Amino acid sequence: MKIHNFSAGPCILPPSVLEEAAAAVNDFNGLGLSLIEISHRSKDFVAVMEEARALTKELLNLPERFDVLFLQGGASLGFYTSAINLLPDGGQAAYVDSGTWSAKAIKEAKLLGDIHVVGSSKDSNYDRIPACDAPPAGSSFLHYTSNNTIFGTQFSGTPEAGVPLVADMSSDIFSRTFDANPYHIIYAGAQKNMGPAGTVMYAFDREPLGKTGRTLPSYLDLSVHASKDSMFNTPPVFPVYVTLLTLRWIKANGGVAAMQQRNEAKAQLIYSEIDRNPLFEGHAHVNSRSNMNATFRLTDDSKAERFDALWNSAGISGLKGHRSVGGYRASMYNALPIESVETLVETMRALEQEG
Ligand SMILES: *Cc1c(COP(=O)(O)O)cnc(C)c1O
Repeated sequence: MKIHNFSAGPCILPPSVLEEAAAAVNDFNGLGLSLIEISHRSKDFVAVMEEARALTKELLNLPERFDVLFLQGGASLGFYTSAINLLPDGGQAAYVDSGTWSAKAIKEAKLLGDIHVVGSSKDSNYDRIPACDAPPAGSSFLHYTSNNTIFGTQFSGTPEAGVPLVADMSSDIFSRTFDANPYHIIYAGAQKNMGPAGTVMYAFDREPLGKTGRTLPSYLDLSVHASKDSMFNTPPVFPVYVTLLTLRWIKANGGVAAMQQRNEAKAQLIYSEIDRNPLFEGHAHVNSRSNMNATFRLTDDSKAERFDALWNSAGISGLKGHRSVGGYRASMYNALPIESVETLVETMRALEQEG
């Protein structure tokens, strides 16, 4: 039976990417060696890293002054790394508190400076993108989480803050087009929409770095990594390679604009069913809804056992909501085909028809 993978992360990847990745583990580039047993300084792997960085720049249409790195530590280290590279000693920054990951970013940034939370939706269990105050004068940047993976909310576009932006785009990078010019740092863990867990992508403007007056540990200093072409130490070779395969797949399938169209169609399908079907209600406010993660619940909990049986027998996997929201979460990353969303909608209709 075909499995429909709605996992929130690590998540679905294109089948062709998995096949190529599996083949490269056995024999990479016809070398008679595995991708994971050759030197990261070999010309074959350096070419992988260079293509992954270049393709990221191309697909995201990043300005020339931007650099791209693939590092370790996940987005969770990105919370601290992004702040320490931009926040002057004794400096201040503004943060939007729109979910669990934002709150974690705020916690880390508070270790480094004066952090102003300019908007929060915590009191309503993060069911919306909060209204935000302007960042106070003297803020080095505004940090926000573009898509709140757990709660199913997403910024509808780029916030206008009047200060440079820093964004955690872990769960919607490469899912829609945007103008990178207002950003100083964008970071994204690979395992939501790019590749396997184990690498985090940084895309950043080189120009504002190195001005904090701090002495940074080498690994946290983005300039150090940039000066070594993302090869300061042994990079996570397998996650970078699989990410490259995904980026090639995105390009071959029309680029980020085409991904956006597909993602909008999938989101439209699930949300119109949530709104139409009296047995379901959404968690996120309508104007904050995420095109990546749709969160919803039953209006009558006594039907939970039956609904779970229906979607399980339809081959649907990974639909359980995060424990902090409950209900269900349909994660619809780039590689999820619309047929999987159609299958989910059919099970929701089947539940309704049973009466
Ligand atoms: C999953 C996730 C993270 C955490 O990523 P790690 O790579 O596990 O550290 C951070 N931010 C967002 C938006 C996420 O979805």
